[in-house]
Amino acid sequence: MIITTLGTSHGDHTYCRYNSATLFEIDDRAYLVDVGEPVCATMIRLGKDLDRLKAAFVTHMHADHVGGLPMLIKTLRKYPKEGKHTDVFLAEDVADSLGAWLRAMHIEWPLSMVSVRATTQGCIYDDGTLEVSAESTRHLRDPERPDVALSFSYVLEAEGKRIVYTGDLSHDFSDFPVAARDEPCDMCICEITHYQPESALPVLMDCPIRRLVLNHVHDPWHGDGEARLMEMVADLPYPVSVAHDGDVFEL
Ligand SMILES: [Zn+2]
Ligand SMILES: [Zn+2]
Repeated sequence: MIITTLGTSHGDHTYCRYNSATLFEIDDRAYLVDVGEPVCATMIRLGKDLDRLKAAFVTHMHADHVGGLPMLIKTLRKYPKEGKHTDVFLAEDVADSLGAWLRAMHIEWPLSMVSVRATTQGCIYDDGTLEVSAESTRHLRDPERPDVALSFSYVLEAEGKRIVYTGDLSHDFSDFPVAARDEPCDMCICEITHYQPESALPVLMDCPIRRLVLNHVHDPWHGDGEARLMEMVADLPYPVSVAHDGDVFEL
């Protein structure tokens, strides 16, 4: 499995990082977690074949995680190919709003080659190559609908490997996914913007994580700040990396 962090910024684009998008390539299949801008352009620049894109899993509906979806859908539509189909999982039931926005941009919708559905807690996807399950976080909440999950972390399992992708978390790190606390994972891709690293360290110290990749990187950890962040996490009992746009990880 090859994992490429296409966009590793926090809520803003920065001088060296685009919005959130991570590509997982397994044999001849490709999958995305989050589709922040400019995911479609980044894939094309890296020579990634959009025809191989089987599914995209959006952690939540903040624009920095889903802003690249219209151009992605437009490009999938523009170059149709026999048998090509992409499932898009959105963290809320907003298919109608998405359809209205696409039609406003003169993009045909609905399409046979793209399906949109809402993520729910538990197993949401299994195509025989990749299995994906979702666990809700408290990053996004609607006070009027406190029981409705609006943001998710995802667990991706393929080729005997298990990856936990946290998505955005709450400020106190209390919703760091149980999936990464209780069961070993080969890689945890964890956001590093919405909490202080000091508050996360006691939790991370005890997790059965084999490799930690810090993603969704906040401004203080850009440039020279990366060395400071690496110093703060140096005592964790497993390898830690800070993700940059275009970094490639092999599992
Ligand atoms: Zn975000
Ligand atoms: Zn967010």
